[in-house]
Amino acid sequence: MAEEPCQCSDCQRFYKEHDRLIREFPTFKQQQELNWASIQSFRTLCTKVTEELQRELSDRESHKDISLEEKNISDIEITEALGELESVNAYLYSLEALMERIFDTKISNNIESKFKEIANELAPDPLNVDRLILNRLFHQTPDFPDKKDN
Ligand SMILES: [Zn+2]
Repeated sequence: MAEEPCQCSDCQRFYKEHDRLIREFPTFKQQQELNWASIQSFRTLCTKVTEELQRELSDRESHKDISLEEKNISDIEITEALGELESVNAYLYSLEALMERIFDTKISNNIESKFKEIANELAPDPLNVDRLILNRLFHQTPDFPDKKDN
């Protein structure tokens, strides 16, 4: 018996996005570039926020008279976020190193045509096996941010 794909709103958003990325980036080269840009932008943003939070925390340490009203984020919240973001930054750095290896791979035009052909078949199919596997991983993510912070 075939496993029914989950239809919750998170999964539906995932299916839609997954298909869109195949439809709009149907070649090996486009997927390389897309994923490279995606990891880089994630890392740039996380690094900047980490720096900003570190700066804010050290400002607070040197001005202990700062009123509570001025702190819309608590020290504990910042310290916890910094711990998490430092791990994330380390993971992204590792991903970037792996992505560099993938980026070195070159594909001939004939194989690129195959990619486009398969992408065409794949994207509209709601029961695609690879997607179900990916989605299962996505669903198992233990600490989904919106479930955690309340
Ligand atoms: Zn689901």
